[in-house]
Amino acid sequence: MTGAYTQDRKRLVTLIPGDGVGPECVRAAQRLIEASGAAVAWEERQAGASVFRAGLASGVPPETIESIRKTRVVLKGPLETPVGFGEKSANVTLRKLFETYANIRPVREMPGVRTPYSGRNIDLVVVRENVEDLYAGIEHMQTPGVAQCLKLISRLGSEKVIRLAFELAIAEGRKRVHCATKSNIMKLTEGTFKRTFERIARDYPDIEAQHIIIDNCAHQLVKRPEQFDIIVTTNMNGDIISDLTSALIGGLGFAPSANIGNEVAIFEAVHGSAPKYAGKNVINPTAVILSGVMLLRHLGEFEAAARIEHAILVTLEEGKVQTGDIAGYDKGASTTAFTDMVIANLGRTSKRWQVRDYRPIRLPQITGAEAVVRPAQRRTLGVDIFVESTLAPEELGPSIEQAAEGTPVKLKMISNRGTKVYPPTGAITDCVDHFRCRFILRAPDGDLSDAAILDLLARVGARHRWMHVEKLPIFDGENGFTLAQGED
Ligand code: NAP
Repeated sequence: MTGAYTQDRKRLVTLIPGDGVGPECVRAAQRLIEASGAAVAWEERQAGASVFRAGLASGVPPETIESIRKTRVVLKGPLETPVGFGEKSANVTLRKLFETYANIRPVREMPGVRTPYSGRNIDLVVVRENVEDLYAGIEHMQTPGVAQCLKLISRLGSEKVIRLAFELAIAEGRKRVHCATKSNIMKLTEGTFKRTFERIARDYPDIEAQHIIIDNCAHQLVKRPEQFDIIVTTNMNGDIISDLTSALIGGLGFAPSANIGNEVAIFEAVHGSAPKYAGKNVINPTAVILSGVMLLRHLGEFEAAARIEHAILVTLEEGKVQTGDIAGYDKGASTTAFTDMVIANLGRTSKRWQVRDYRPIRLPQITGAEAVVRPAQRRTLGVDIFVESTLAPEELGPSIEQAAEGTPVKLKMISNRGTKVYPPTGAITDCVDHFRCRFILRAPDGDLSDAAILDLLARVGARHRWMHVEKLPIFDGENGFTLAQGED
């Protein structure tokens, strides 16, 4: 990764103060990084609420994008999408624009922060896939009353984040990586992530690799969080469990994060703009300061990073100055007083609380031919046509069967919200006006042509409103689709 430097060889970092409590926390982190002696200089840019209000729908102005392209590294405060402005969040814009495919969220027990888990040495990292899954944001109203969101999981996207999780384990001297998915239900999407994990784990024989179903992972995290080291998971699973893990160690005031891409890395707290505390100088800046510590390690400034982390541990351990989230907002210290104390503690180390020995992370490089899966054989067995109808399944079925007469396919079944309803199975299904009609080739070894699909669509469309079509592919003999509940 390249980047930009000042004339006196300081690494340039784009600084986005952000919204709400953002500027207060970001200034605290900036002051500490400067006091640590790290060779870092800042280029301040805007994003978020003020940009949306100025009429820019992405929330990220061109001069900010240009700065990030140049510096390749960002320290940012939380960004808001004000109601009534912008369709997409500025955070998501930044993640997608710079392909920051992994979100790394470490949590560790903090001295002086009492939680039900105190003394159990929680020290784990959630590595969340950051650009795919339901967060690709591809949504459609398929009928006036039925919405769809596409869950996209690619082998490439999975491989990048999973390799990064193993590389992170090596860089931080960790021993175990769990992969958390819902592959038992979503066999193709979450299953792709799991299968990719199992394949890549073989390249890392010294790291213990285990799969865990995401719901059990949530349960185990609450019951015995100390068993986890690194958890790698898909976007939505990771979004939810990483908020859970933040709560295990005392809340969002202590949860930093890094959005890592091969070109750009963006460091920020997990928390948002906490508007009720904005401008009051009472917020806990630790999460943003620790995000700054992650940034320094990313830049290879390991010594400065360790100095700041030690200073935070000493400050929290001594407890002379505590922020409102720990002491209570009526008696807590100000954000600036807490930051002053951490700066005063630079150079001190805690005897009891350790700082890991960090090494640089090797970012996975997956390019060219490796990035695309090319089966030796592929064919199309059939097609799913989704129709809007208020007919009962036993009336819709014969009508759809008639539409397929004289074509190379026959109606295999109709499902409603994933459950087979025609031919009838005896299941009690509350049908909505959204049916999937599954057609398969009468000669099952054949290959259904696009022309035949278009002809079928016209025939079905003459009787019912269709709104969605999916081919039923077979790649190297493996079905590229799942069966409906009750389908065999
Ligand atoms: P939030 O800003 O994270 O605040 C929720 C609560 O978390 C606060 O009321 C406070 O709890 C606690 N909290 C947050 N930051 C803290 C800190 N530094 N120290 C101690 N406690 C802290 O979540 P939100 O209210 O749902 O979101 C507000 C706005 O932020 C929204 O516009 C949202 O879209 C945006 N947001 C941005 C990002 C980002 O930019 N990455 C992330 C999340 C949310 P108590 O009330 O219990 O004191």
